Amino acid sequence: MLDEILHRVETAHTLTKNEIVDLLTQTDTQALFEAADRVRQQFVGDGVYLRALIEFSNHCKNNCLYCGIRASNSHIPRYRLTQNQIVLTAQKAAGFGYKTIVLQSGEDVWFDTDKLCDIIREIKKLDVAVTLSVGEKKREEYAAYRQAGADRYLLRIETTDKNLYEKLDPGMSWDNRVRCLQDLKELGYEVGSGSLVGLPGQTLESLADDLLFFQKLPVDMAGIGPFIPHPQTPLAGEKSDGHFELALKMMAVMRLLLPDINIPATTAMETLHPQGRLLALQSGANVVMPNTTDTEFRPFYELYPGKICLGDSAEKCRGCVEEKIKSIGRYIASGKGSRGDYLKEK
Ligand code: SAH
Repeated sequence: MLDEILHRVETAHTLTKNEIVDLLTQTDTQALFEAADRVRQQFVGDGVYLRALIEFSNHCKNNCLYCGIRASNSHIPRYRLTQNQIVLTAQKAAGFGYKTIVLQSGEDVWFDTDKLCDIIREIKKLDVAVTLSVGEKKREEYAAYRQAGADRYLLRIETTDKNLYEKLDPGMSWDNRVRCLQDLKELGYEVGSGSLVGLPGQTLESLADDLLFFQKLPVDMAGIGPFIPHPQTPLAGEKSDGHFELALKMMAVMRLLLPDINIPATTAMETLHPQGRLLALQSGANVVMPNTTDTEFRPFYELYPGKICLGDSAEKCRGCVEEKIKSIGRYIASGKGSRGDYLKEK
Protein backbone atom coordinates (compact mmCIF):
# COMPACT_ATOMS: atom_id res chain seq x y z
CA MET A 1 0.00 0.00 0.00
CA LEU A 2 2.68 2.46 1.02
CA ASP A 3 4.86 1.43 -1.87
CA GLU A 4 1.96 2.27 -4.12
CA ILE A 5 1.53 5.74 -2.53
CA LEU A 6 5.27 6.42 -2.72
CA HIS A 7 5.48 5.37 -6.33
CA ARG A 8 2.56 7.61 -7.23
CA VAL A 9 3.79 10.70 -5.38
CA GLU A 10 7.25 10.28 -6.86
CA THR A 11 5.81 10.82 -10.32
CA ALA A 12 2.61 12.84 -9.73
CA HIS A 13 3.65 14.92 -6.66
CA THR A 14 0.24 14.93 -5.04
CA LEU A 15 -1.01 13.30 -1.86
CA THR A 16 -4.18 13.46 0.17
CA LYS A 17 -4.03 14.54 3.80
CA ASN A 18 -4.61 10.93 4.91
CA GLU A 19 -1.81 9.68 2.72
CA ILE A 20 0.57 12.26 4.20
CA VAL A 21 -0.41 11.14 7.70
CA ASP A 22 0.24 7.52 6.67
CA LEU A 23 3.71 8.43 5.44
CA LEU A 24 4.48 10.42 8.60
CA THR A 25 3.39 7.44 10.73
CA GLN A 26 5.89 5.09 9.07
CA THR A 27 8.64 3.66 11.22
CA ASP A 28 10.34 1.97 8.29
CA THR A 29 11.48 5.15 6.58
CA GLN A 30 14.10 3.91 4.13
CA ALA A 31 11.84 3.79 1.08
CA LEU A 32 10.48 7.29 1.82
CA PHE A 33 13.94 8.81 2.24
CA GLU A 34 15.24 7.12 -0.90
CA ALA A 35 12.28 8.36 -2.94
CA ALA A 36 12.83 11.93 -1.65
CA ASP A 37 16.54 11.65 -2.47
CA ARG A 38 15.78 10.53 -6.04
CA VAL A 39 13.30 13.38 -6.56
CA ARG A 40 15.83 15.86 -5.15
CA GLN A 41 18.46 14.60 -7.57
CA GLN A 42 16.12 14.62 -10.54
CA PHE A 43 14.72 18.12 -9.96
CA VAL A 44 17.46 20.15 -8.27
CA GLY A 45 20.57 18.05 -8.84
CA ASP A 46 23.55 17.16 -6.66
CA GLY A 47 24.73 20.72 -6.03
CA VAL A 48 24.25 22.06 -2.52
CA TYR A 49 23.61 25.76 -2.17
CA LEU A 50 25.28 27.52 0.74
CA ARG A 51 23.70 30.58 2.33
CA ALA A 52 25.66 32.73 4.79
CA LEU A 53 23.57 33.35 7.88
CA ILE A 54 24.06 36.58 9.85
CA GLU A 55 22.12 36.74 13.13
CA PHE A 56 22.25 40.49 13.54
CA SER A 57 20.07 41.14 16.60
CA ASN A 58 18.48 39.03 19.33
CA HIS A 59 16.15 41.78 20.52
CA CYS A 60 12.56 40.69 20.00
CA LYS A 61 9.23 42.28 20.84
CA ASN A 62 7.39 38.96 20.63
CA ASN A 63 6.94 36.32 23.25
CA CYS A 64 6.66 32.99 21.43
CA LEU A 65 6.47 30.30 24.09
CA TYR A 66 9.00 28.04 22.34
CA CYS A 67 11.67 30.61 21.54
CA GLY A 68 14.78 31.35 23.62
CA ILE A 69 15.02 34.97 22.47
CA ARG A 70 11.40 35.77 23.47
CA ALA A 71 10.98 39.22 25.01
CA SER A 72 10.36 37.85 28.52
CA ASN A 73 13.61 35.88 28.69
CA SER A 74 15.64 38.14 30.96
CA HIS A 75 18.52 35.66 31.23
CA ILE A 76 20.10 36.23 27.84
CA PRO A 77 22.27 39.28 27.19
CA ARG A 78 20.77 41.23 24.28
CA TYR A 79 22.95 42.38 21.39
CA ARG A 80 22.45 44.29 18.20
CA LEU A 81 25.14 44.59 15.52
CA THR A 82 25.77 48.05 14.13
CA GLN A 83 24.98 48.74 10.52
CA ASN A 84 28.68 48.74 9.83
CA GLN A 85 29.27 45.41 11.59
CA ILE A 86 26.48 43.80 9.56
CA VAL A 87 27.89 45.02 6.27
CA LEU A 88 31.44 43.98 7.25
CA THR A 89 30.20 40.49 8.16
CA ALA A 90 28.46 40.26 4.79
CA GLN A 91 31.62 41.40 3.01
CA LYS A 92 33.62 38.72 4.78
CA ALA A 93 31.04 36.10 3.82
CA ALA A 94 31.08 37.23 0.19
CA GLY A 95 34.88 36.96 0.37
CA PHE A 96 34.54 33.27 1.35
CA GLY A 97 32.49 32.76 -1.80
CA TYR A 98 28.93 32.92 -0.47
CA LYS A 99 26.45 34.13 -3.08
CA THR A 100 23.52 34.59 -0.70
CA ILE A 101 23.47 36.53 2.55
CA VAL A 102 20.64 35.75 4.97
CA LEU A 103 19.93 38.51 7.49
CA GLN A 104 18.03 37.12 10.47
CA SER A 105 16.96 38.70 13.76
CA GLY A 106 14.25 38.80 16.35
CA GLU A 107 11.51 41.33 15.67
CA ASP A 108 13.67 44.29 16.61
CA VAL A 109 11.92 47.63 16.07
CA TRP A 110 15.22 49.52 16.35
CA PHE A 111 15.93 48.46 12.76
CA ASP A 112 13.33 50.65 11.12
CA THR A 113 12.68 50.58 7.39
CA ASP A 114 15.31 53.20 6.55
CA LYS A 115 18.05 51.44 8.50
CA LEU A 116 17.26 48.02 7.01
CA CYS A 117 17.04 49.44 3.49
CA ASP A 118 20.45 51.12 3.89
CA ILE A 119 21.93 47.78 4.96
CA ILE A 120 20.29 45.93 2.06
CA ARG A 121 21.59 48.48 -0.45
CA GLU A 122 25.14 48.21 0.92
CA ILE A 123 25.09 44.41 0.83
CA LYS A 124 23.64 44.33 -2.68
CA LYS A 125 26.81 46.09 -3.85
CA LEU A 126 28.57 42.77 -3.18
CA ASP A 127 26.67 41.13 -6.04
CA VAL A 128 24.93 38.60 -3.82
CA ALA A 129 21.32 37.62 -3.25
CA VAL A 130 19.86 39.03 -0.03
CA THR A 131 17.41 37.02 2.03
CA LEU A 132 15.60 38.64 4.94
CA SER A 133 14.21 36.83 7.97
CA VAL A 134 13.06 39.59 10.28
CA GLY A 135 9.45 38.66 10.98
CA GLU A 136 6.06 40.20 10.39
CA LYS A 137 6.00 43.68 8.85
CA LYS A 138 3.56 45.90 7.02
CA ARG A 139 3.19 45.43 3.28
CA GLU A 140 4.77 48.88 2.71
CA GLU A 141 7.84 47.81 4.64
CA TYR A 142 8.19 44.61 2.62
CA ALA A 143 7.79 46.71 -0.53
CA ALA A 144 10.55 49.08 0.62
CA TYR A 145 13.00 46.25 1.34
CA ARG A 146 12.26 44.78 -2.07
CA GLN A 147 12.84 48.18 -3.68
CA ALA A 148 16.17 48.37 -1.85
CA GLY A 149 17.16 45.06 -3.44
CA ALA A 150 16.05 42.24 -1.13
CA ASP A 151 15.44 39.09 -3.18
CA ARG A 152 14.02 36.54 -0.77
CA TYR A 153 12.18 36.36 2.53
CA LEU A 154 11.96 33.61 5.13
CA LEU A 155 8.92 33.52 7.40
CA ARG A 156 7.93 30.18 8.83
CA ILE A 157 4.24 29.66 9.41
CA GLU A 158 5.50 27.54 12.37
CA THR A 159 2.18 25.65 12.41
CA THR A 160 -0.96 25.88 10.28
CA ASP A 161 -3.06 25.02 13.34
CA LYS A 162 -4.40 28.51 13.99
CA ASN A 163 -5.46 27.80 17.58
CA LEU A 164 -2.14 26.24 18.44
CA TYR A 165 -0.25 29.09 16.75
CA GLU A 166 -2.12 31.74 18.69
CA LYS A 167 -1.62 29.85 21.95
CA LEU A 168 2.13 29.51 21.38
CA ASP A 169 2.64 32.99 19.91
CA PRO A 170 0.63 35.15 22.32
CA GLY A 171 -0.49 38.50 20.95
CA MET A 172 0.15 37.42 17.36
CA SER A 173 -2.42 36.59 14.72
CA TRP A 174 -2.17 33.59 12.42
CA ASP A 175 -4.16 35.41 9.76
CA ASN A 176 -1.64 38.23 9.81
CA ARG A 177 1.20 35.76 9.31
CA VAL A 178 -0.57 34.37 6.24
CA ARG A 179 -1.18 37.94 5.04
CA CYS A 180 2.58 38.56 5.32
CA LEU A 181 3.36 35.48 3.20
CA GLN A 182 0.84 36.55 0.58
CA ASP A 183 2.16 40.12 0.48
CA LEU A 184 5.69 38.81 0.07
CA LYS A 185 4.62 36.62 -2.85
CA GLU A 186 2.77 39.46 -4.53
CA LEU A 187 5.78 41.75 -4.14
CA GLY A 188 7.89 39.31 -6.11
CA TYR A 189 10.03 37.84 -3.37
CA GLU A 190 11.12 34.25 -3.48
CA VAL A 191 9.24 33.15 -0.39
CA GLY A 192 10.44 30.67 2.18
CA SER A 193 8.30 29.30 4.95
CA GLY A 194 8.38 26.22 7.14
CA SER A 195 7.25 24.59 10.33
CA LEU A 196 8.37 23.56 13.74
CA VAL A 197 7.90 19.85 14.31
CA GLY A 198 7.08 18.40 17.72
CA LEU A 199 5.30 21.35 19.29
CA PRO A 200 3.16 20.39 22.28
CA GLY A 201 -0.40 19.86 21.05
CA GLN A 202 0.63 19.46 17.40
CA THR A 203 -0.91 16.49 15.58
CA LEU A 204 0.19 14.54 12.51
CA GLU A 205 -2.97 15.83 10.81
CA SER A 206 -1.85 19.40 11.42
CA LEU A 207 1.64 18.61 10.08
CA ALA A 208 -0.04 17.22 6.95
CA ASP A 209 -1.96 20.51 6.71
CA ASP A 210 1.36 22.39 6.89
CA LEU A 211 2.63 20.53 3.82
CA LEU A 212 -0.59 21.12 1.89
CA PHE A 213 -0.39 24.81 2.86
CA PHE A 214 3.16 25.05 1.44
CA GLN A 215 2.00 23.36 -1.73
CA LYS A 216 -0.94 25.69 -2.12
CA LEU A 217 0.92 28.98 -1.56
CA PRO A 218 3.24 27.69 -3.17
CA VAL A 219 6.50 28.32 -1.36
CA ASP A 220 9.80 28.60 -3.20
CA MET A 221 11.67 27.19 -0.21
CA ALA A 222 10.77 25.73 3.16
CA GLY A 223 12.68 24.77 6.28
CA ILE A 224 11.50 22.08 8.65
CA GLY A 225 12.91 22.41 12.16
CA PRO A 226 12.53 20.01 15.06
CA PHE A 227 11.25 21.82 18.15
CA ILE A 228 13.91 21.82 20.88
CA PRO A 229 12.69 22.99 24.30
CA HIS A 230 14.61 25.93 25.71
CA PRO A 231 15.12 25.92 29.51
CA GLN A 232 14.29 29.61 29.94
CA THR A 233 10.89 29.41 28.27
CA PRO A 234 7.45 28.26 29.42
CA LEU A 235 7.96 25.08 27.36
CA ALA A 236 11.12 24.12 29.29
CA GLY A 237 9.57 20.88 30.56
CA GLU A 238 8.71 19.52 27.11
CA LYS A 239 10.66 16.71 25.43
CA SER A 240 12.40 16.55 22.07
CA ASP A 241 12.33 12.75 21.72
CA GLY A 242 11.41 11.69 18.21
CA HIS A 243 11.37 15.24 16.86
CA PHE A 244 14.40 14.70 14.64
CA GLU A 245 12.95 11.59 12.99
CA LEU A 246 9.56 13.23 12.48
CA ALA A 247 11.13 16.41 11.07
CA LEU A 248 13.15 14.31 8.63
CA LYS A 249 10.00 12.51 7.47
CA MET A 250 8.18 15.85 7.06
CA MET A 251 11.06 17.14 4.99
CA ALA A 252 11.16 14.05 2.79
CA VAL A 253 7.41 14.15 2.12
CA MET A 254 7.75 17.87 1.35
CA ARG A 255 10.37 17.10 -1.31
CA LEU A 256 7.97 14.61 -2.91
CA LEU A 257 5.12 17.14 -2.95
CA LEU A 258 7.21 20.15 -4.00
CA PRO A 259 9.92 18.53 -6.12
CA ASP A 260 11.80 21.65 -7.26
CA ILE A 261 11.84 23.94 -4.22
CA ASN A 262 14.90 24.77 -2.13
CA ILE A 263 14.97 22.83 1.14
CA PRO A 264 17.59 23.52 3.83
CA ALA A 265 19.13 20.87 6.01
CA THR A 266 18.37 22.81 9.18
CA THR A 267 20.87 23.51 11.94
CA ALA A 268 18.37 22.39 14.59
CA MET A 269 18.45 18.92 12.99
CA GLU A 270 22.17 18.71 13.67
CA THR A 271 21.62 19.77 17.28
CA LEU A 272 19.46 16.67 17.81
CA HIS A 273 21.57 14.28 15.74
CA PRO A 274 25.34 14.47 15.08
CA GLN A 275 24.79 13.64 11.39
CA GLY A 276 21.53 15.58 11.19
CA ARG A 277 22.32 17.80 8.24
CA LEU A 278 23.93 15.04 6.18
CA LEU A 279 20.94 12.78 6.74
CA ALA A 280 18.70 15.67 5.71
CA LEU A 281 20.74 16.21 2.53
CA GLN A 282 20.24 12.51 1.76
CA SER A 283 16.49 12.70 2.37
CA GLY A 284 15.48 15.63 0.19
CA ALA A 285 17.43 18.73 1.27
CA ASN A 286 19.64 20.76 -1.10
CA VAL A 287 20.64 23.84 0.94
CA VAL A 288 22.85 24.46 4.00
CA MET A 289 23.03 27.73 5.88
CA PRO A 290 26.39 28.00 7.68
CA ASN A 291 26.52 30.58 10.42
CA THR A 292 28.78 33.55 9.67
CA THR A 293 27.82 35.61 12.71
CA ASP A 294 30.88 36.68 14.73
CA THR A 295 31.51 34.09 17.47
CA GLU A 296 31.32 36.88 20.07
CA PHE A 297 27.56 37.12 19.49
CA ARG A 298 26.64 33.62 18.43
CA PRO A 299 25.87 32.17 21.88
CA PHE A 300 23.29 34.89 22.49
CA TYR A 301 21.16 34.09 19.45
CA GLU A 302 19.88 31.14 21.40
CA LEU A 303 16.55 30.15 19.84
CA TYR A 304 17.04 26.71 21.38
CA PRO A 305 19.78 25.13 23.52
CA GLY A 306 22.71 23.14 22.14
CA LYS A 307 23.26 25.21 19.02
CA ILE A 308 26.15 23.74 17.05
CA CYS A 309 29.52 25.33 16.15
CA LEU A 310 29.21 28.18 18.67
CA GLY A 311 32.93 28.81 18.79
CA ASP A 312 33.77 28.17 15.14
CA SER A 313 34.84 31.02 12.89
CA ALA A 314 32.89 31.69 9.70
CA GLU A 315 35.88 30.29 7.80
CA LYS A 316 35.96 27.09 9.82
CA CYS A 317 32.19 26.59 9.43
CA ARG A 318 32.42 26.90 5.69
CA GLY A 319 35.36 24.48 5.48
CA CYS A 320 33.65 21.96 7.71
CA VAL A 321 30.37 22.10 5.80
CA GLU A 322 32.22 21.73 2.48
CA GLU A 323 34.01 18.61 3.75
CA LYS A 324 30.77 17.06 4.92
CA ILE A 325 29.00 17.74 1.65
CA LYS A 326 31.84 16.19 -0.32
CA SER A 327 31.89 13.17 1.99
CA ILE A 328 28.46 12.13 0.68
CA GLY A 329 29.38 12.58 -2.99
CA ARG A 330 27.72 15.95 -3.40
CA TYR A 331 29.30 19.27 -4.32
CA ILE A 332 28.95 22.97 -3.50
CA ALA A 333 26.94 24.60 -6.24
CA SER A 334 29.15 27.31 -7.73
CA GLY A 335 29.70 29.28 -10.89
CA LYS A 336 26.80 30.34 -13.05
CA GLY A 337 23.50 30.10 -11.22
CA SER A 338 25.18 29.56 -7.85
CA ARG A 339 22.93 32.12 -6.22
CA GLY A 340 20.54 29.21 -6.12
CA ASP A 341 17.51 31.16 -7.24
CA TYR A 342 14.37 29.16 -7.38
CA LEU A 343 14.32 28.22 -11.04
CA LYS A 344 10.81 27.01 -11.68
CA GLU A 345 9.44 28.04 -15.03
CA LYS A 346 6.36 30.02 -14.27
N1 SAH B 1 11.93 36.80 13.83
C1 SAH B 1 12.07 36.00 12.66
C2 SAH B 1 13.10 34.90 12.85
C3 SAH B 1 12.67 33.90 13.89
S1 SAH B 1 13.92 32.84 14.48
C4 SAH B 1 10.71 35.46 12.25
O1 SAH B 1 9.75 35.70 12.95
O2 SAH B 1 10.62 34.83 11.22
C5 SAH B 1 13.90 31.59 13.26
C6 SAH B 1 13.13 30.32 13.56
O3 SAH B 1 13.64 29.66 14.69
C7 SAH B 1 11.67 30.47 13.90
O4 SAH B 1 10.89 30.70 12.76
C8 SAH B 1 11.36 29.15 14.60
O5 SAH B 1 10.79 28.20 13.69
C9 SAH B 1 12.74 28.64 15.05
N2 SAH B 1 12.75 28.38 16.51
C10 SAH B 1 12.40 29.22 17.50
N3 SAH B 1 12.44 28.59 18.68
C11 SAH B 1 12.82 27.31 18.45
C12 SAH B 1 13.01 26.14 19.26
N4 SAH B 1 12.84 26.17 20.57
N5 SAH B 1 13.40 25.00 18.66
C13 SAH B 1 13.63 24.95 17.33
N6 SAH B 1 13.44 26.01 16.51
C14 SAH B 1 13.04 27.16 17.05
